[in-house]
Amino acid sequence: MTQPKKERTLAEPFRIKMVEPLKVTTEAYREEILKKTGYNPFLIRSDDVFIDLLTDSGTSAMSDHQWAGMMIGDESYAGAHSWEHFEAVVKELSGMPYILPTHQGRAAERILYGILGGKDKVFISNTHFDTTRANIEFTGAQAFDILPPEAYDPELDLPFKGDIDTAQLHKLLKEYGASRIGAVIMTVTNNSAGGQPVSMGNMKEVRSICDEHGVLLVIDGCRVAENSYFIKHREKGYENKTYKEIAQELLRLGDAFMMSAKKDALVNMGGILAVKNEDLARQCTNLLIISEGFATYGGLTGRDMEAIAIGLQEVFDADYLHYRIRSTAYLGEHLRNKGIPVVWPIGGHAVYIDSKKLYPHIPVEQYPGQMLVCDLYQKGGIRCVEVGSVMFGKYDEQGKLIPAKNELVRLAIPRRVYTQSHIDFVIDVFDDILEMREQKTGLKITYEPPFLRHFTAKFEKI
Ligand SMILES: *Cc1c(COP(=O)(O)O)cnc(C)c1O
Repeated sequence: MTQPKKERTLAEPFRIKMVEPLKVTTEAYREEILKKTGYNPFLIRSDDVFIDLLTDSGTSAMSDHQWAGMMIGDESYAGAHSWEHFEAVVKELSGMPYILPTHQGRAAERILYGILGGKDKVFISNTHFDTTRANIEFTGAQAFDILPPEAYDPELDLPFKGDIDTAQLHKLLKEYGASRIGAVIMTVTNNSAGGQPVSMGNMKEVRSICDEHGVLLVIDGCRVAENSYFIKHREKGYENKTYKEIAQELLRLGDAFMMSAKKDALVNMGGILAVKNEDLARQCTNLLIISEGFATYGGLTGRDMEAIAIGLQEVFDADYLHYRIRSTAYLGEHLRNKGIPVVWPIGGHAVYIDSKKLYPHIPVEQYPGQMLVCDLYQKGGIRCVEVGSVMFGKYDEQGKLIPAKNELVRLAIPRRVYTQSHIDFVIDVFDDILEMREQKTGLKITYEPPFLRHFTAKFEKI
């Protein structure tokens, strides 16, 4: 993609009806906070954060229609009309007959991979998201990520860097044999690999490979609307389709579809599991009832289901999606113009910074990404997250770090929350980062849990 020509200021296609004040703090105050929280932004109180780019998950602002929908939520235990609304919208979108509501995405994953997983099983994905991998590994199964080598190059300008490597997929499926494969999982967009989109062509190819080998294809479609934007604008043959039609076509290629409603359903809590196969649906429903709730509400209230049903339609609005994707790109393009090494091209929900390039003198064992995350908080009260060796690193038998493939820092953009001047502020803070980058040393871990360590690990400055 070439740099787009100068565009008009991207005015948000909504206006503000309610405001939430933000606390302005000093750098000295924030330095103290970092020390107290062990340099882990997950442990900082949100009141102490000025601009929160930790995640786009569950941080969306709901619309007036969604809030109105909450008022007519039906809280009946069984067969609520809000459930019927939710079920109808998800069925129409996914084309799948069996719909299960869960309290968030990982609950859908725990149910599905609890059934498909197990000790000898293998899962193959373009990239497993961290909760996906954790839920799979928790069953004793293995999870392989197979992006094509060029997708790991953070600068190569390719339209669909979220695509899976189909040659490797063939090879792995042959090597393990269908009986050992739990599922092939396509994460759309590919969150942990830079929020990069997956092409329809790749999805179709994966579908036919799965058919050939007789294995299940699961679509993790947390950001399926954002992915549709990229398909419409980058893939031949989709120019005249609506975003929703593209999502419908894509999801119909899967055998199961899970989604965290906290992403593209524009709500603060919720998850969706949809499956094609009746027997699998029955097993999932049994687990849902044990751990989440009855089949017609799962982990959700009636008002949650109402808000999700409405959000899942709003998210395909052409003006919304244009604003959404362009405003993320706005941040990325401005940082790049300043000389900040960003993963290119810019993905859908976040801007990813290559911290190894920005802080080349900090070795990976000292977590340059985590250091950048802390610097952004200290300088601007900006909260974001490391997606590198803190999140994905492992240890060998000698306890030496096996680093992640990339040391990224993710600035995730909440949906419909911040204005362009907030984003301009973030861009300004990077001037401070550039100024002080030479004096940086890294961090060492002083505490870590066995799973998903980035959430609770503690660090010390070296
Ligand atoms: C957020 C996310 C999940 C997990 O969903 P939660 O609602 O956070 O439990 C799974 N996969 C992807 C790609 C995600 O982005």
